[in-house]
Parts: sequence; C-alpha cells; structure tokens
Amino acid sequence: MDLFEHQAKELFAEYGIAVPRGKVAHTPEQARALAEEFAAAGSSRVVVKAQVKTGGRGKAGGVKVADDASDAYGKATDILGMDIKGHTVHKVLIEEASSIAQEYYFSFLLDRANRTFLAICSAEGGMDIEEVAATTPDKVAKIPVSALTGVDRARAREIAEAGGLPAEALDGAAELIEKLWMVFVDEDATLVEVNPMILTSDGRVMALDGKVTLDDNAAFRQADHEERFADKAAEDPLEAKAKAKDLNYVKLDGTVGIIGNGAGLVMSTLDVVAYAGEEFGGQKPANFLDIGGGASAEVMADGLDIVLSDPDVKSVFVNVFGGITACDAVANGIVSAVKLLGERGETVDRPLVVRLDGNNAALGRQILTDANIAVVEQVDTMDEAARRAAELAAGSVR
Ligand code: GDP
Ligand code: MN
Repeated sequence: MDLFEHQAKELFAEYGIAVPRGKVAHTPEQARALAEEFAAAGSSRVVVKAQVKTGGRGKAGGVKVADDASDAYGKATDILGMDIKGHTVHKVLIEEASSIAQEYYFSFLLDRANRTFLAICSAEGGMDIEEVAATTPDKVAKIPVSALTGVDRARAREIAEAGGLPAEALDGAAELIEKLWMVFVDEDATLVEVNPMILTSDGRVMALDGKVTLDDNAAFRQADHEERFADKAAEDPLEAKAKAKDLNYVKLDGTVGIIGNGAGLVMSTLDVVAYAGEEFGGQKPANFLDIGGGASAEVMADGLDIVLSDPDVKSVFVNVFGGITACDAVANGIVSAVKLLGERGETVDRPLVVRLDGNNAALGRQILTDANIAVVEQVDTMDEAARRAAELAAGSVR
C-alpha cells in the first residue's frame, strides 16, 4: 500500500523526524482558512501541494508556493481537480513554506535482486534526481544495508557522507536517516523516500517530501495500517465488498464474469476468455476471482453475488479443476449457491457456463445435470467453455 505524502509525513513526525507543519484541505476555502491559521502562527507563505499517489507533482504544476491566504485560495483552486498522470487531485496539503538552502535525495528500499536493503543518498536531490542518476550516477550513492545490523547514527552518518552531503548537513541528515530506518523497519515498509531532504537556510535538515510503501504481507502484524491509511474513496466498491468477504477479486473492464479455483487457473482463464472473445466483438473478462481450494457453497454464493453485482457482466464462466476439493463438492456448491442467492432475493439472471474437470468430474457434472438449473450450461473443455461464455456475453446466442 502506498501512502499519500501527508500520511507519510504524519508517520515521520511520530518518529521525531523534522517535517514542515501542515494540514490537509479538500476545498479552496479550507486551504485559505489553513493559510490564515499558519499566518497567525507566524508564517504567511505556504506551499499548496497536490495529494496524489504519483511522483513528479512539482513538474506537473501540482506544488505551488503561495504568498498569503488569498493566494493559497487561488492556488488551491488551480490544483484541486487537476489531473496528474491519470490521478485526479481531491485534496491538497497546506504547509508552512520552508526556506531551502539545498535539496538532497534519500531513500531506503528493498533491493530484491540483491536480496538486501539499500540506502540511496545524493547531495543532488530535488525534482531532477532521475536525470542526475542517469547522467552522473557517481553522484548517487547506493549502499547495501544488512537487515541484521541495520542503521545506527554512525552508519547513518557514513551514508550521508557517501552521498556527498556537505559538513554542515551531516549531523541533521544522520539523525533523519537513523529515524527513517526505524520507520522502515517498525512499520514494515518496502520503501521510504525523502526527496527533497532539505537543508534550510538556518541550518536544519528536514523531510520536505515523503513517499512510503507499506508491505501488505505484513498487514497481520500492523493492525492499524488498514484502518489508518487505506484510501476508501479510491477503492472500487466491488473490490471493497469482496475484501470484506475475504475473496480475492479484481475488477476488470470486460463482460465475462470469471470464477475459478486457484490463482494460476484463474489467470489462464482470463487469457483464454480474452482470446476466445476476439471472435465475438472483443468480449473480455470482467474480473479476476479466485475462490480458492475449499470452495464451499457459501463462498461460491458470495463469489457469484459479487461477480453478478457488476452490471457490465453479461455471462459468467465458472472454471473449476477439482483437486482436494473434488468436483462433486463444487457442483453441490453451485447448486446451493444458486438456491441461496434466490433466497436472498438476488436470483441469478445471467447465464453461467460451468466447466468441471479433475477429481470426480463425472460425478460433479451429473449433479449439475440433475439439478437442471435453467441458467447453468455445462461445457467440458476450458477452451470451448470460454468460447461459449464469450458468445453468450456478446448476445449473439441466447
Ligand atoms: P514532487 O515533485 O511530487 O516530488 O513534489 P515535492 O514535494 O518534492 O516538491 C517539488 C519541489 O517543490 C521541491 O523539490 C522544492 O523545490 C519545491 N518545494 C516544495 N516545498 C517547498 C517549500 O516549502 N519552499 C520552497 N521554496 N520550495 C518548495
Ligand atoms: Mn519529491
């Protein structure tokens, strides 16, 4: 999970990392009120910063310094609603402006290729860091960090020196880097990036920007992360509903709903449906949904419910390969799921193409045949079933 800049900075502040004072505004009026608040506290210049989860906001015009509260109102008006690389700006961070003497770059990240953590540090930070890294790579220090020894103050200072930071910034940078390592470890991040890390004209080192990626695999031991940081407004409502039911669902933009057991099978089902769909005006999979190995009737019902909640879905392809959970159990699951949905008042109103193969396939097929459900159609092979589902979605045959 990626954090917004303001969330990253809130986290940094909890670890004692120096960040400018700032608050979030959703409207130009709120931006003006916050700027007035900062002015009353002594700093009338503020920065208005687009809060979107992408880089390069500065270059896109999403970061602007405002001279006073009415200027902040105007700049917030410009920035709110702006599109930055496909991200619409819904909120801005209003921060007291910093007086910048120098801009540095710093990050910790997981270096998968080398099976280690990496500190990256450069005295040439700011908006052109990619350019610096490409043209003068020796100005960007890349230092492996062992998970066993980590980063203490002395090590942090060595990293800052390797990055070429000037003497007057070393103490402040070492403190910031040491604390950033604590954020990285304690919060289970895979990336913490500060660009720019600045030296102010009065000699302090601060994090002027913040990018944090949290490791979702550590969610089980970071109980507050989801609650605190999840961007509920941006979440697809169907994906949210699926998540609440512990289903592995991803919304796509096609018309053929997909339900399968096992991530690999579902992935290949998407490919086969997209391929078959070309014959029928480009029908595509509407979603990814893996109901997992032990597909109970309940899980099948929840899965069908979510897939059918998508109004774009015109047909559903249920692709099951019986393994530990054999096909007869899955077939019974489908029969009960259709019944269950009927009882919930959500009668299945679109065709289900079911392909059962693997363990107890014959028995499973017989159960479905005997159940004689009008919307269920069985096809024995994956390719033919995909083709039939695409055909039904295209509406060429009913
Ligand atoms: P990014 O472009 O998305 O990485 O956004 P940043 O938060 O890094 O801001 C981009 C640039 O805006 C920085 O590199 C600074 O040069 C400038 N900037 C940001 N905050 C301030 C500030 O408080 N004062 C001044 N003078 N410039 C700022
Ligand atoms: Mn930045």
